[in-house]
Amino acid sequence: MKVGITYHEKFGQYDLGTGHPFRGDRFVNAVRLFEEQGLLNLPYVKVLKPRSATKRDLLRVHDEDYLNLIFRLAVLRKPYDVETPVSQEILEAARLVAGGALEAGKGIYEGKVGRAVALGCGFHHAGRDYGGGFCLLNDIAVLVEYLREKYGLERILILDYDVHFGNGTSDIYYSDPAVLFISLHQDPRTIYPGKGFVDQIGERAGEGYNVNVPLPPGTGNRTYLQALSEMFVPLAEEFQPEIILANGGSDPHFADMLGSLGLTVKGFFRLSQTIVKVAEKVCNGKLVLMPGSGYNPKVLPLCWFALAAGVIGLEKIDVNDPQAPPVEPELCRRVVRKTLAELKGILKKYWRCFR
Ligand SMILES: [Zn+2]
Repeated sequence: MKVGITYHEKFGQYDLGTGHPFRGDRFVNAVRLFEEQGLLNLPYVKVLKPRSATKRDLLRVHDEDYLNLIFRLAVLRKPYDVETPVSQEILEAARLVAGGALEAGKGIYEGKVGRAVALGCGFHHAGRDYGGGFCLLNDIAVLVEYLREKYGLERILILDYDVHFGNGTSDIYYSDPAVLFISLHQDPRTIYPGKGFVDQIGERAGEGYNVNVPLPPGTGNRTYLQALSEMFVPLAEEFQPEIILANGGSDPHFADMLGSLGLTVKGFFRLSQTIVKVAEKVCNGKLVLMPGSGYNPKVLPLCWFALAAGVIGLEKIDVNDPQAPPVEPELCRRVVRKTLAELKGILKKYWRCFR
């Protein structure tokens, strides 16, 4: 089965300006490394060019008033908030990025590819009627709603491994049991957006379907992957989703400028391989992986490459960290072990795997 990669040159227009950590060259640099490594020429890799998400696509998720505000701000070139600028170019790129997510999903359900990497996606801080944290349109939710409407999907798992908690995605699905949202992120007491604690488990029918795994600063590969195998793996096996959407770029890397977790390039590769393995076991390999974040331009292409390589199914990768990783503080392991025990205690009411 082929693996799709969605990408459009205009993604580079998502450039939030000089001095801002979110620059447009991230996409260009990542794709250049993909090309240098021969990733895009592999016979089973299919590059899919997205079309812009339509307003109808966006309205499945976002409020009309909010969309109208964003469209108006784009014309006026006025920022949504102090760290989230808006312009016609940025909005065009945001719609193409969301279109990339749709193209990946469509590629899978039309049988063109078995799984896909939707480059540049994962704008998880955008909610139904708000943006923020560099995000305007929640492309993950745009894909979820498209898959539900077009293909009648009933169970979707979102794994958010970005260093930040995906508050937008979490809010959108907080009372929805059809979407299991699992987020591994840096302890919200130490990073934006300050939410994503273990006791935030969803509400009403969605109670138990929002799973937050906060990790202390310094958490490295070993403890991170342990948390992944103790939470994501059993929950995915029990939930039996029809597809897995996984979002996050390079910001959990130890050299990221905004995050303080300790993953290495090889850690991202193993993370990606684990997700693929689970997808193969529970949903015939159906997976859209969305690498979009990352605020160290040196390591971003390396981590995105490692993530994509895992999805593509390379056995090993030939790229490495530009410097030696720090040693994980012993405390991290103990803190995470405690967090996992607490979380399983809370969730056992809803999930057999934790009983
Ligand atoms: Zn992030």
